[in-house]
Amino acid sequence: MTDSVVSKPFSSSVGDYVKAIWDLGGTGAASTKEVAERLSVSPASVSNMFVRLQEMGLVRHERYHGASLTDSGRVEALRLVRRHRLIETFLLEHLGYNRQEVHEEAERLEHAVSDGFTERLAEFLGHPEYDPHGEPIPATDGTLEVENSVPLTEARAGTRVRISKVRNDDAPILDHLEDSGLVPGRPLSVLQVRELDGVVIVEDEDGKTHALGEPLARSVFVREALGGA
Ligand SMILES: [Zn+2]
Repeated sequence: MTDSVVSKPFSSSVGDYVKAIWDLGGTGAASTKEVAERLSVSPASVSNMFVRLQEMGLVRHERYHGASLTDSGRVEALRLVRRHRLIETFLLEHLGYNRQEVHEEAERLEHAVSDGFTERLAEFLGHPEYDPHGEPIPATDGTLEVENSVPLTEARAGTRVRISKVRNDDAPILDHLEDSGLVPGRPLSVLQVRELDGVVIVEDEDGKTHALGEPLARSVFVREALGGA
């Protein structure tokens, strides 16, 4: 099992695990419970898999602290994340999928395509920097843009911002934001950030104002726009 690390592609479940640990833990550890919830499997299967991933050199597993990725685990995770995000971009831009549909389809397809396909896809798409959710696409060498966006709840009133990404697992919330035109790339003026109830009021480029309750405002990530736009 250990010898297969470099030579053979990993099984799709190994891929799902390293991606989940990367997403949940960042540079730190992801707990058994978190990973079990994310992948809809039992905590016992997660514990078993953590041991296996450790044997494969992909994670460090410490009891009570969960699992964190080793350097090769991180490389593997980012390779899959690159593939996933490029596929999502392709589905949205060329096959008529909407933003809510691309993730699930990409989850399936990412296990079926090769690295060669992924690079041709990147070429075809013109080497996009961001996926349809506004998440940065890792480079082929596994480098990833440093996160510099904040949720609208942390934006400052009076600033011009641009939506960098929309992050929420709740489909009705995503639909609502999309229907309101609050999608990655959209510029906004922040009119009010109310501490009292967490409501954020923004104005879009057409002069329409949107009052977003806290759950919505927390799902919309923005970057301050430099020099207008
Ligand atoms: Zn996705």
